Amino acid sequence: MRPGAGTPESTWFTGLGQAGAADYPGLDEWRDLPKVQQPTWQNEASHRAAVAELSTLPPLVFAGEVDLLRERLAAAAQGKAFLLQGGDCAETFEGATADKISARVKTILQMAVVLTYGASLPVIKMGRMAGQFTKPRSSNDETRDGLTLPAYRGDMVNGYDFTPESRAHDASRMVQGYHTSASTLNLIRAFTQGGFADLRLVHHWNKGFTQNPAHARYESLAADIDRAIRFMAACGSDFEALKRTEFFASHEALLLDYERALTRIDSRTGTPYATSGHFLWIGERTRQLDGAHVNFLSKVRNPIGIKLGPSTTGDDALRLIDALDPEREPGRITFITRMGAGNIREKLPAVVRRVTDSGAKVLWVTDPMHGNTVTSPNGYKTRRFDDVMAEVRGFFEVHAELGTFPGGLHVEMTGDDVAECLGGADPIDEEAFLTRYETVCDPRLNHMQSLELAFLVSGALAQQS
Ligand code: PEP
Ligand code: MN
Repeated sequence: MRPGAGTPESTWFTGLGQAGAADYPGLDEWRDLPKVQQPTWQNEASHRAAVAELSTLPPLVFAGEVDLLRERLAAAAQGKAFLLQGGDCAETFEGATADKISARVKTILQMAVVLTYGASLPVIKMGRMAGQFTKPRSSNDETRDGLTLPAYRGDMVNGYDFTPESRAHDASRMVQGYHTSASTLNLIRAFTQGGFADLRLVHHWNKGFTQNPAHARYESLAADIDRAIRFMAACGSDFEALKRTEFFASHEALLLDYERALTRIDSRTGTPYATSGHFLWIGERTRQLDGAHVNFLSKVRNPIGIKLGPSTTGDDALRLIDALDPEREPGRITFITRMGAGNIREKLPAVVRRVTDSGAKVLWVTDPMHGNTVTSPNGYKTRRFDDVMAEVRGFFEVHAELGTFPGGLHVEMTGDDVAECLGGADPIDEEAFLTRYETVCDPRLNHMQSLELAFLVSGALAQQS
């Protein structure tokens, strides 16, 4: 039994959770382990002050919501739901505006309706939002015109502007990251509980997409959804209930100072929860078995994602499960594979087979973005829409062959009309990068490309069911 299980339910955390979290066994083991991709804070006093402040601030999410998400993900691992996880590669403080947040939530809701229809399953909606402010980098430095400065590591660490002041690692940015996450999450909750998620409204928005002549091929699917909604209405469905939807927040748990300071002991169960978001994932660069990230996340109760790149072996996957989910708890582990369109069919089967043969039940999700990054002839970091879709198809094919369930889609996307990825039915070309390339990190699917992907994936899901 888990520590504290069976204690009487109480509705909130133990005070501010500080004393409990400070004493909890193992929560600080990571401090003595190899830590990769961490900032070098410029000022120790400001670092201490930021961590102390974060430790007293209210949690951003409630442990009960985190438990609910774990149940939802357990259903997806069994083939009874599908996960849609999307958002910026790197959120920015400047980008946390009502317009941009609503466009992203709207796009995710639009994609979710299309996927729900294709899969005939509930879709778990999750943003790479309200906390996605730190980035791992392949190089510590960046050189421009002979000047070398620290690489941009996300707004919670340093600024994007290429000046020594902006690029210095400033711990007070963690506190700003917390407040920006809080206001983003507040707006997401307002939208998704306040009527913005109304199924009929979301479907109406999708009609705008199919009315574009470039998307004519998706009209029949949209018409099918239309007919299904009219059927529901005729049967007397409660559309009032469909005005609200669950929506979860996720980010890469990269910055351990931040994650540790926001970890609280839940008074219902006496166990630690990372309260910076519902779902946290470990990146491809920080999933070392003996490293600080795996150790820290093994101590919190949240559902955990782990990115798996093309070099992952079946043994690697099994050892990660042993480290992070020794009790094989349903919904605890999500493997987010990002192998590249050219690798997925070759590399994924051995990993899936090994995990399945061990008896472990994980949720398999495709991230068709991070294995397909290329440089455009005019020098921009980009991804081709066709490569993204090819990896999704490979992912579905492998799972169909192995009899396992392809349980979700993880994408870097925005609700705005940017030009960062090449192609799509209403194609983006590299000339458009000159005026509409806005990302501070990886290239995102724009609004239309995101919807098109959802229509294509919906078709693939419909074939499976
Ligand atoms: C990301 O999700 O933005 C990322 C850095 O992914 P990965 O760890 O898979 O490279
Ligand atoms: Mn990225």
